[in-house]
Amino acid sequence: MDRKKKGINTVCTHHGELKDEKYKGATSPLYMSSSYAFENVDVKRYPRYFNTPNQEALGKKIAALENAEAALIFGSGMAAISTSLIAFLKAGDHVVLQNALYGGTYNLIVEEFEKFGISYDFTTGLDVEDFEVKIQSNTKVIYIETPSNPLLKLTDIKAVADLAKRHHIITMIDNTFASPVNQNPIDFGIDIVIHSATKYMGGHSDICAGAVAATSENIDRIFQLAKNFGGSLSDYTVWLLERSIKTMGIRVRAQNENAMRMANYLYKHDDIRAVYYPGLSSHPDYELAKIQMHGFGGMLSFELEKGLDASDFYNALQLIKPSMSLAGVESTVIAPSLTSHALMSEVERKRQGISDGLIRFSLGIEELEDLVADIEQALEKVKGNVVTTTY
Ligand SMILES: *Cc1c(COP(=O)(O)O)cnc(C)c1O
Repeated sequence: MDRKKKGINTVCTHHGELKDEKYKGATSPLYMSSSYAFENVDVKRYPRYFNTPNQEALGKKIAALENAEAALIFGSGMAAISTSLIAFLKAGDHVVLQNALYGGTYNLIVEEFEKFGISYDFTTGLDVEDFEVKIQSNTKVIYIETPSNPLLKLTDIKAVADLAKRHHIITMIDNTFASPVNQNPIDFGIDIVIHSATKYMGGHSDICAGAVAATSENIDRIFQLAKNFGGSLSDYTVWLLERSIKTMGIRVRAQNENAMRMANYLYKHDDIRAVYYPGLSSHPDYELAKIQMHGFGGMLSFELEKGLDASDFYNALQLIKPSMSLAGVESTVIAPSLTSHALMSEVERKRQGISDGLIRFSLGIEELEDLVADIEQALEKVKGNVVTTTY
């Protein structure tokens, strides 16, 4: 089924589902077998071959969500990212990566690539020219991530895809922050779309998984390495992930709406110095966001006014939880300078625009009024005022 012929919530709910022929149950049956009878040399079913019934069914759903031909499900986002990169790179090759990347991806590159003989360059900015100047004769992959973490800057997906095509370079994108609800990079010419399914696909902060979507040819190339690296996901979690994705469309749209309204509220607030959200017309990439995103997403960042302490603020929150991760139905916050970017030097953090007062906000699906009330009472507390609201 071509995703374009069906609405997103229909694809989320039904696409790829396994029929329960025997009992006519409403949901996909779960096949937990790790051992299957030999059918023929072409079909050897085994969890690490990524071809159990539940893996194949969920792969079809995720492929349809990204307008791709095929998809593979992995045991984590990093399993999906590392396997995809290494599948297209060998000793002597070069990869260009954008400068603002998920920390785990950055660590994979700087800690592991040298021993594989793979060289790399990070761009200095996110403009297409920043990618172009880093291309070498042996560049085989360009890797992007948009919107970026934590400042929600955008990379022009089509411009980078076009540039790569002119140089016969494979493009990969980490599409986690947008989710397939808000952004479908294959429509703009990207070759390989990667997700940490731990985030919006799972959506309930209880699943760790990854996914890759691309053409059947590219997926087969990734599979050839994946079966040797062995990063498959347990069928039970595959089944839970299918169940989670059924509500992804409505969850993410609710999160988009909460983020948009929260961004507007924070933007007008006297105690907030800056808000970073691609849905605000003040955001430098607002026009690009309207072109390449269906929705502006559920993530935003903001800076407290000088003198207001970020950790005091988020410790004072009662409903909104401090959390390292993101994208669940519950709203969470994190101070990047104290957590994800704590190991960076202060100079490097400043260079990347990550101030000590910066707070990354992952909007959940709660009522906006309750989230606003929580922020109000936390700000009052940080300013030394007594408040009595409790939850
Ligand atoms: C969480 C995350 C990852 C890594 O995913 P895991 O499932 O934790 O391995 C990769 N990219 C982005 C943008 C993420 O947020």
